[in-house]
Amino acid sequence: ESTPAVTTSNVAEQAAALRTTIRRYDHEYYVLDAPSVPDSEYDRVFRELKALEEAHPALITPDSPTQRVGGAAMSGLLPVRHRIPMLSIETETDITPQGAHNFDARVRKKLGLLPEDAAIEYAAELKFDGLALSLRYEHGQLIQAATRGDGEVGEDVTHNIRTIRQIPLQLHGAAPEVLEVRGEVYMSRPDFERYNASQREQGKATLVNPRNGAAGSIRQLDPRLAAQRPLSFFAYGLGETKGWEVPPTHAQVLDALKDFGFPVCQGRTVGVGPESLAAFHQAIAAKRDQLTYDIDGVVYKVNRLDLQRELGFRSREPNWAVAHKFPAQEEMTVLEQIDVQV
Ligand code: NAD
Repeated sequence: ESTPAVTTSNVAEQAAALRTTIRRYDHEYYVLDAPSVPDSEYDRVFRELKALEEAHPALITPDSPTQRVGGAAMSGLLPVRHRIPMLSIETETDITPQGAHNFDARVRKKLGLLPEDAAIEYAAELKFDGLALSLRYEHGQLIQAATRGDGEVGEDVTHNIRTIRQIPLQLHGAAPEVLEVRGEVYMSRPDFERYNASQREQGKATLVNPRNGAAGSIRQLDPRLAAQRPLSFFAYGLGETKGWEVPPTHAQVLDALKDFGFPVCQGRTVGVGPESLAAFHQAIAAKRDQLTYDIDGVVYKVNRLDLQRELGFRSREPNWAVAHKFPAQEEMTVLEQIDVQV
């Protein structure tokens, strides 16, 4: 039988080793925009650390990757302190429809609801695989665009964002004193293919994938480079607002953002209870390949903003949202091959 001291130190060493690996992957992904492993491998190591920390809470350090959001700021770009932190989203590990029920159960428990209490209304939307941005408008004018960075401090990328035609420089209609819009900048698949084909023709370097193409373009110092890259944007939420009556639900916020002139993805729905979420997950998984841009799952959000406030957030993610992913593409291929053989 092993002594507790030995076990603890082994587990501590294991946690330290996992953290070192994750920090290296994070640096490659968030700072260099050049990951060396697929997301499924990153997620696996991250889950392993999370499970270890859950079993041994004393091991959790405030700087553990499980306790903080994404990447550090790149030198050369000016730091921007977010007035409201830009959080990550918890990932539901069960990729079957049951994942939607797990999320609903967590939300209901946190709100202290009983089984006989009414079902909760949710908004479901796509999880775009790009780079998170916060756009700040004062009196209707775009004055600053920042990356998420570590969630507290991001990078000023206003010079590059101004080159994206889909992002309004001036809001449509009556403008609030302050409106911070959060969303995802991405490169569509056809734009990615066209850009790479043209680069190849000119004997120039090609982009590895649309996600890194978008992130790498936005985090350039020279706006002329970003201007040559075809980038798009979807708005999906709010940061700070002043002088604006925020609508009562998330879905209405998105409608309002559309009216202000932002592209808002039409692939979204509002439904009551977890069944509607599971149905959305299934429908999108079936359509995923027909989309003109990459997604890495769907996101469920509690629709009422007053309930979102009541649910609050943890160190790195809100309690009112979850990312429900799909089986990784490689894994899907393997499953299909097995099906054919059987
Ligand atoms: P995340 O990127 O999975 O989720 C949070 C982000 O989702 C938000 O910041 C936002 O930008 C985005 N998002 C997209 N659509 C949204 C919507 N409709 N509503 C709200 N937000 C939306 O979380 P994370 O913690 O930043 O990163 C983890 C992801 O990055 C994982 O998929 C992981 O595999 C990948 N990653 C990979 C490596 C690697 O080496 N391969 C390294 C680090 C991270």
